[in-house]
Amino acid sequence: MPEELPRAAIGLVGVSKRFGSHAAVDDVSLEIAEGEFFSLLGPSGCGKTTTLRMVAGFELPDAGRIVLKGNDVTEVPANRRPVNMVFQQYALFPHMSVYDNVAFGLKVKRVPRSEHSERVQEMLRVVSLEGLDRRRARQLSGGQQQRVALARALVNRPAALLLDEPLGALDVKLRKQMQLELKRIQSTLGTTFVYVTHDQEEALAMSDRIAVMNGGRVEQIGSPREIYERPLTAFVADFIGSLNALDLRIDELVGENAVMRLGEVERIVVPVGGGRRPGETVRVAVRPERVQIEPAGSPILNGGSRLEGTVAEIVFLGMYTQFHVDTPAGRLVSHRLADESLAPLEPGSRVALSWEPEQASLLGDGAL
Ligand code: ATP
Repeated sequence: MPEELPRAAIGLVGVSKRFGSHAAVDDVSLEIAEGEFFSLLGPSGCGKTTTLRMVAGFELPDAGRIVLKGNDVTEVPANRRPVNMVFQQYALFPHMSVYDNVAFGLKVKRVPRSEHSERVQEMLRVVSLEGLDRRRARQLSGGQQQRVALARALVNRPAALLLDEPLGALDVKLRKQMQLELKRIQSTLGTTFVYVTHDQEEALAMSDRIAVMNGGRVEQIGSPREIYERPLTAFVADFIGSLNALDLRIDELVGENAVMRLGEVERIVVPVGGGRRPGETVRVAVRPERVQIEPAGSPILNGGSRLEGTVAEIVFLGMYTQFHVDTPAGRLVSHRLADESLAPLEPGSRVALSWEPEQASLLGDGAL
């Protein structure tokens, strides 16, 4: 019997791609739902762009299938797939008007000329460029050019839009503004977006779900909140935001929690579920913003983990302050917001750090 193909808007089944002896994409399987804003996130060279190019049809996988709504398109050429791609370099025609740049997409697909005007104007409204249709592309700002590139890619009403670091060339402020714009455009049109970025903040801000990639493999797929709060691997935890990771030996199991004792009143408690034993070494992760900091000797506020230590360094970062503290479990970082009331602390101060058991998690170190 033939293998069942995914019915999702986009499905990758065991997709691999090698360049020489290097596995750029290594056995990637994932499904993207209709209308979803899905991001491929990871460091440079992890295989995001190659994955996207295989969905677009610009690269042929060595193994696996690319499936669009149940149709196997692995061998279908790029121009016959119902998807479109937007690049970091917008590749507009600089001397042509905004209108002609957008209408170019329609010409390529041989859409009757009588439909052009209405469809171009509609798309210019969606990307907030009404009234600029006669302007030459080279007379536009970077942000406006990016909007034209989007309009040109969307005017053919593709089933999915593939975006490869489309905001990479913009300055930080414009980038943030365009992130909101992209999200708005995507929800207005309901088109499936697959977005490649190495910027974790960008992926967290825009995506319905994120696939975090490392060395050609997918390490975790989940909503921004899941990825941030429940990272499954040390790589994901470290790539998405900052993290305290402590290698510790389990002293005792109490119900579902592992307890590590580091001193008379100092202990770390972390939920582990089943399958762990005393004596085993585990990696415990806790986000800096979860770590409370008080002068040593103050009443214990949290019932879970508590460590005493000495402040080694204080870094003021505007919105929040980082406290680097040396403890018997190693150096930990606590982030406190500018508006929190804190006793005055300085390097050398003795402090107590604490957090609730469920605010920490165990990290595995392999891929899924
Ligand atoms: P970046 O964010 O830097 O673009 P990426 O995660 O998108 O990185 P890819 O561009 O997919 O990564 O590249 C994955 C790996 O495959 C890299 O090591 C890259 O050097 C290699 N690679 C990509 N394209 C080719 C090619 N055409 N020929 C040879 N090697 C390639």
